[in-house]
Amino acid sequence: AACSSQESSSDTSEQSVEASDEKLRSNPDDIYVGFAIDTLREERWYRDKEAFEGAVEELGGQVKTLAANSDQDVQIQQAQLLINEGVDVLVVVPTDADASSEIVDIAHEAGVQVISYDRLIRGADVDYYLSFDNEKVGELQAQEIVDQVDEGEFAYVGGAESDNNATLFREGAMNVLEPYIDSGDIDLVYDTYTTGWDPGVARDELSSFIDSNDVNLDAVVAANDGTAGGAIEALGDQAGEVPVSGQDASLEGVRRVIEGTQTMTVYKSMDLIAQRAAEMAMDVGAGEEISTETTIDNGQGEIPTTLLEPITVTEDNVEETIIEEGHLTESEISDED
Ligand code: BGC
Repeated sequence: AACSSQESSSDTSEQSVEASDEKLRSNPDDIYVGFAIDTLREERWYRDKEAFEGAVEELGGQVKTLAANSDQDVQIQQAQLLINEGVDVLVVVPTDADASSEIVDIAHEAGVQVISYDRLIRGADVDYYLSFDNEKVGELQAQEIVDQVDEGEFAYVGGAESDNNATLFREGAMNVLEPYIDSGDIDLVYDTYTTGWDPGVARDELSSFIDSNDVNLDAVVAANDGTAGGAIEALGDQAGEVPVSGQDASLEGVRRVIEGTQTMTVYKSMDLIAQRAAEMAMDVGAGEEISTETTIDNGQGEIPTTLLEPITVTEDNVEETIIEEGHLTESEISDED
């Protein structure tokens, strides 16, 4: 019996996870790719999904995406469903870096290889990892901020600690900030991770810190456009005067960069990572071994890794970066409705 699975199903707990011999694809010779994605709540992941599905199909494969609404248990069940459907390879944006190791275990039991997409699965024998240079992302964020202001009271608004990237973004930012902190020029008065990367949590926590300590922040290094948006709300009247970093070149983020409430964002082309991941998935799904540029230790071993280059976007280069690459159009950015 075929197990039912719906795209973006939020609750798979009642669904059958029995093994199915039948591969659910129209042509049994096609490579079948499963994409298990943490969330579609943020714009970037929706773009990853669209680009990845398009690229796999373009390469002659079939693909199904399931999104887990930021719930690691749901993601494990969804991975199991995709495996039961007979995927040849599983591409995963893990919710929780460590707990998602179970996905690798169940995939390998079924003879399915796993590609960790953008976020690293830790503590498991992941087959391949494809991402951007995430420490560099953090360095770009902090560098752009200290180019604006290099003394005073700073806040670091991080991502979800359960996301390996959030740790790397913070490490990168600290590489840049530490000399200033050591010399006493910068006082890092606030330094926190944000549960679930939730912009509302970022806003509420920063705003209660500002209120209860009666502090005037001089700069905010925020880990992505979502947390930046939260931080900018928390700054209230000060928004636009206090440099704030971001990441993802989301529509909202780029609009804020243009209007001046956000200093920068980091563009990590979703088309690029999705295209590369689709190519990898098709090769791995066909049973080929692929070569990567480097390896990264994920606590279990050295994982074959490819890292792409992130790009700083400020109001000065929006045109020649994201607009020229077709990531966003001029009219999308300027249309305020
Ligand atoms: C990604 C970021 C994203 C964040 C929140 C990170 O792992 O690298 O691009 O903003 O997750 O979804």
